[in-house]
Amino acid sequence: MLQDKVALVTGSTSGIGLAVAEAFAASGCHLMLNGFGDSDDIEKLRQRLASTYAIKVCYSAADVSSPDEIAGMLHDAQEQLGGIDILVNNAGVQHVAPVTEFPQAQWDRIIAINLSSAFHTIQGALPGMLKKGWGRIINVASIHGFVASPYKSAYVAAKHGVLGLTKTVALEVAKSGVTCNAICPGYVMTPLVQNQLADTARARGITEQQVMDEVLLGTQPTGRFTDATDIAAMAVFLCGPASGNVTGSVQVMDGGYSAG
Ligand code: NAD
Repeated sequence: MLQDKVALVTGSTSGIGLAVAEAFAASGCHLMLNGFGDSDDIEKLRQRLASTYAIKVCYSAADVSSPDEIAGMLHDAQEQLGGIDILVNNAGVQHVAPVTEFPQAQWDRIIAINLSSAFHTIQGALPGMLKKGWGRIINVASIHGFVASPYKSAYVAAKHGVLGLTKTVALEVAKSGVTCNAICPGYVMTPLVQNQLADTARARGITEQQVMDEVLLGTQPTGRFTDATDIAAMAVFLCGPASGNVTGSVQVMDGGYSAG
């Protein structure tokens, strides 16, 4: 369906980004992977995707909190893959603490990775898309793009910002053939969620099991996590033939979290 398009997925060495990258690979896209991890594991992943789907797969170790490293990654994508048709801003981190104790360095890091990186990748990739008259930008935001949870000030602020950026870009390029949309998952069981269980338990004075049952699953009326592969399927839909007039939208996949 997306044969020979080029997709860059930030934070695609783990969790949702990895599922999105694999779904694009299965649709025939060439890939630029990005994210951290063990270099041997990442190379094995790169080779597996390339051979399974008969596509070109490159990898950039760019830290997306650095505008210079993002520029380098976009340059590499141009040189190695001929530019980017599909940009998925997915890389994200979390820190859980009361606002009065929230470390300034964590605030700066989360805003840089979860929000400013999307501005820098869009600014770098959009001119090439406009030139081709086709492009797809997908920002992986969160249900925390429009509802808050205590102890996640930086994350919630960043995700609210991502929705604002998404809508603004969509309006600026509305007639160009380039769309810009956001996906807002509820909780998905990935390392990002796994790693916040202990801090959330500490901040709320409850056990990790209570965090799982009450804070995570308790907020989702369906009582289950969203699957990363379902988010990936939504990302593919947003790049497919039926999505040409879908722009500036927020695709909520939260098990009913925000309906209540
Ligand atoms: P994850 O921890 O499994 O993956 C995060 C990815 O981002 C990894 O590949 C990691 O290496 C990469 N990354 C982190 N910092 C980076 C940096 N500075 N530069 C480049 N890459 C970096 O997490 P996930 O749950 O798959 O999260 C992916 C996105 O989905 C995030 O934006 C997150 O906010 C969002 N999200 C997750 C959930 C959830 O419940 N898991 C819910 C809503 C939204």
